[in-house]
Amino acid sequence: MKPTHIEHIGIAVKNLSESIKYYESVLGLTCYAVEEVTDQKVKTAFFMVGQTKIELLESTDPEGPIGKFIEKKGEGIHHIAFAVENLESVLEETALKGVQLIDKQPRKGAEGMHIAFLHPKSTFGVLTEFCEDKSKQ
Ligand code: ZN
Repeated sequence: MKPTHIEHIGIAVKNLSESIKYYESVLGLTCYAVEEVTDQKVKTAFFMVGQTKIELLESTDPEGPIGKFIEKKGEGIHHIAFAVENLESVLEETALKGVQLIDKQPRKGAEGMHIAFLHPKSTFGVLTEFCEDKSKQ
C-alpha cells in the first residue's frame, strides 16, 4: 500500500462562512463546494490547492465528532486524508499490521468518496483518513 497523494487536510472550524472568507480573501483560494454530510453531523467547504484540498468542517451538532473535537481541542487541524486505491484491501492490510481502525469497512464521505478512518492512538496522534475516489474508476 502506498498513498498516491494527500487528498485533503480536514480543519475543524466554528463558523464555516467566517473561515471561508479567510481562505478566499487572504489565501486567494476559491471555495468550490459546500456540502452537508449528515452522517458526520458536519457542513464542509472545499478549496483546491494543487492536487490537495482543504476541507473545512463545521459541526451541525455539538454532540457530533467535530463539535466534540472543538470543545476539547479548539479549532484547528482535525485530520489528514491520504488518497489510496483499493480501499478495502488497504484497510485489511492496515489492520493486519496492528493498526486500530475506526472504520473496518469503507463508508461514504463528502464528494462521493469512499472513506475510512484509522484511530489516532495507532497513528501517533494524527487522525488519519484513507479515501478512494470511486468516480475516477
Ligand atoms: Zn476528510
